[in-house]
Amino acid sequence: MPNKLSKKINHERFNRYVKRSSEVGRTDNNGLHRLALSQADKEIRDQLKVWFEQAGLATTIDDFGNMYGRREGKNPHLKPIVIGSHLDTQPYGGRFDGVLGVLAGLEVVESFNDDHIQTERPIIIVNFTNEEGARFPQPMLGSGAITEHFNKSFVYEIQDEKGITFEQALQEIGYVGKEEYRLKEAEYYLELHIEQGPMLERNSKQIGVVGGIQGMDWLDVNVIGEKNHAGPTAMEDRKDALASSARMISTLYEITNSYSGLKTTVGKLHVHPNVANVVPGNVEWVLDVRHEDDTLRMAALDEMRHALKQQAALDGTSVTVNELWASPAVLFDEDVLGAIEKSTDNLGLTRMKLYSGAGHDSKYMPYFGKTGMVFIPSVQALATGKMN
Ligand SMILES: [Zn+2]
Repeated sequence: MPNKLSKKINHERFNRYVKRSSEVGRTDNNGLHRLALSQADKEIRDQLKVWFEQAGLATTIDDFGNMYGRREGKNPHLKPIVIGSHLDTQPYGGRFDGVLGVLAGLEVVESFNDDHIQTERPIIIVNFTNEEGARFPQPMLGSGAITEHFNKSFVYEIQDEKGITFEQALQEIGYVGKEEYRLKEAEYYLELHIEQGPMLERNSKQIGVVGGIQGMDWLDVNVIGEKNHAGPTAMEDRKDALASSARMISTLYEITNSYSGLKTTVGKLHVHPNVANVVPGNVEWVLDVRHEDDTLRMAALDEMRHALKQQAALDGTSVTVNELWASPAVLFDEDVLGAIEKSTDNLGLTRMKLYSGAGHDSKYMPYFGKTGMVFIPSVQALATGKMN
């Protein structure tokens, strides 16, 4: 990027944006409770529209409620640079999370306005709908929908806990826009986000250059033994599905440690019959495995499946493994990463490369163009009341 663009933003104005956003859906512990398409979401959307107008951006809203603010370039025929993230939050979530990504984009545009900088390409600031998937249980809904990962009827029919559909909620807050306004192209997509992990803080780095988003597998593991009474059944006669599962999980964690950077989690178990004095006959659990290298993850999964069968044979149990869900790794564009690294160095900030363990809207954006993400440290006490 030319050096004249490496200018400073107006911190006071940016802080004003963040402060105002932090008031909309505010919780007692300084976090935010701003579920997608709720009244609080409507309020911050209305505010964003005003900010877009003040910044001279043309506002459009598509049929998924995604909001766009467009600043024209010298050459309106060039594909735009898109900057953004999401303004919705988890229940009692953080006030920075995706909010910074939208507001940082807005401040970039305002800074260009201050200096009368006209870019070649148009710039579009975007606020994607329902990134969190907290109210409507499909994360990254708005970005996934415009990139043809979900079709319209699927999106419109998703219901929240009260049975309200996405479509109804969108209508209720008055944010049903037009299909023709969906983002259709982007030369670049940039997203600033809180890290949501401890790596930057732990390594005392200021900027995380995000190499991509880890690939992920969810496997349903069903271990079948024999249900028996605790008293009469001798230890050597048991086929204890829980004891067998425990040994399996321990082996899986050992395998995990032999692959650098691999992350394995078992966070959910169903023990049957789940009674104190009955030897468990059946235990079902979910295995979550993540890595940024798909080939490595696949190799680890093969080894894990094999180890599960072996352990079952030793324990006299049987095991079935079914893939519940898989999401391949997304690697961001090398040129964009290079530009982020260069800018970081020019600003005299410290950096490290890392991979996102969580999903973000940028996951879907390589569909349009060269994508990159910047993480900033998530300081526990500062970032939220609770998580972030
Ligand atoms: Zn987020």
